Amino acid sequence: MDRAEILGWLRETDPARLEDLFRRADAARRKAVGDEVHLRGLLEISNHCVRACAYCGIRAPRKGLSRYRMSAGEILEGAIRAAALGFGTVVLQAGEDPDLARNFVADAVRAVKRETDLAVTLSLGERDEGDLQAWREAGADRYLLRFETSDAALYGRLHPGRGGAPGSPEDRMAILRTLKSLGYEAGSGVLLGLPGQTWESLAGDLEVFRDLDLDMIGVGPYVPDPATPLWREAAARPPEGPGADPETDAFKMVALSRLACPESNIPATTALATVGGEAARLSALARGANVVMPNLTPPRYRRLYRIYPGKFAPDLSDDALLAGLQRSVESMGRRIGRGPGGRVGDRATSSLP
Ligand code: SAH
Repeated sequence: MDRAEILGWLRETDPARLEDLFRRADAARRKAVGDEVHLRGLLEISNHCVRACAYCGIRAPRKGLSRYRMSAGEILEGAIRAAALGFGTVVLQAGEDPDLARNFVADAVRAVKRETDLAVTLSLGERDEGDLQAWREAGADRYLLRFETSDAALYGRLHPGRGGAPGSPEDRMAILRTLKSLGYEAGSGVLLGLPGQTWESLAGDLEVFRDLDLDMIGVGPYVPDPATPLWREAAARPPEGPGADPETDAFKMVALSRLACPESNIPATTALATVGGEAARLSALARGANVVMPNLTPPRYRRLYRIYPGKFAPDLSDDALLAGLQRSVESMGRRIGRGPGGRVGDRATSSLP
């Protein structure tokens, strides 16, 4: 698909034509990664953050939010719960928190690998190569780092660097390349509906997904947070362009991501479930997605990992969580994936038949 065709689909508003795109994406998903829906248990292990991303509710300058960091024991307990639920992967995510020290994280990864068969995904922000290498050696399988937008001017406005100068999407793309060279499966993605974002920038994002040959791609609607500087701009955003219809636009991006990168693992994101509920999550699974990331963060921490308001994170018993997922997945004629559910074709981590 060339850029003109991608742009044509992004701008498409005719529901019948869009159904055609969604059907093509669903067929591509079935052919490349099959009918399994992989479950990744999400543990939000710290809401401390040194960055000041303009959209994010746990940014460093945010006042009035209690900050927490989970203990090694709590992390292991969460991973054991994910394994007991039959999930194949645990995702350890946090703000960019230097006090999650190299050795602490490495020990946590080793403990999870020793006590469970889970694949371990880390999502801890922009860390140096020494950290990434140590965690890979400890057994981490995957790393998630969204580049958020490939539009350099927009990225720079939203992401002050650690020194204060504007950041560049290249900062994160370089880390993604390092991750691949260290043998990680690399995941990335973007926000959809940022003030100032254009269809052209989203088309550029899709080209970057393909060029980086990403193993995982997550696209979620931007949810404005009144506790952040971007809130005012979002409120003044004109009612057209990307994000005006966050659900449909997210479905377009999921479908186009699947067509651009047929073998990638693509989640139905939590942000999409936040704007469209469980129904939107299921629709995404029917339009190219093949992964769901249920939140397993202990409730007392979960409400503090407040990257945006109203985050979809129901606190369910293990039985209710599993029954709900099973019902949804089976109602679509799909099944819950067993094993780690790595990128297809990668025998080291792909799921068992
Ligand atoms: N510190 C890690 C994890 C960040 S939270 C990192 O920087 O990679 C994970 C994702 O949440 C981010 O990558 C961002 O895309 C998303 N996010 C942050 N604020 C958001 C908002 N207001 N609305 C929707 N998604 C948001």
